[in-house]
Amino acid sequence: MINCIFCKIINGELPAAFVYKDSEMVAFADINPKAPVHILVVPVIHFESLRDVDSRHEKILGKMMVKVKEIAEKQGISDGGYKIIINNGKGVGQLVFHLHVHILGGWKKSPGWQV
Ligand code: AMP
Ligand code: ZN
Repeated sequence: MINCIFCKIINGELPAAFVYKDSEMVAFADINPKAPVHILVVPVIHFESLRDVDSRHEKILGKMMVKVKEIAEKQGISDGGYKIIINNGKGVGQLVFHLHVHILGGWKKSPGWQV
């Protein structure tokens, strides 16, 4: 999709710190991390958000969830727990309109610790 940052990353036109890549999905570090570990999991197929999915997307969405689990384990954040977030729409802060799952984790417990 023209002018989509994440399509450009997938096509190799823009750089990213990839942690996973195959023909259907990629995962890379968020450029402005909101957690010690902040990874974005992105389908290769361009659609804006969950508001646009239908039954054709069931397979890729299911695969992404399994990869979220595997990526969290590989990143060493699974035991400590992690959050996933999908922003759907400008009204809740979506900035990049190519569906992506945020994986956030890696916080260390300390006095006043708050996720
Ligand atoms: P969202 O608000 O859900 O659309 O989140 C978009 C996310 O993409 C933000 O957390 C940004 O920091 C991240 N982001 C934007 N541009 C890039 C980029 N070139 N490489 C990696 N992450 C990016
Ligand atoms: Zn795109």
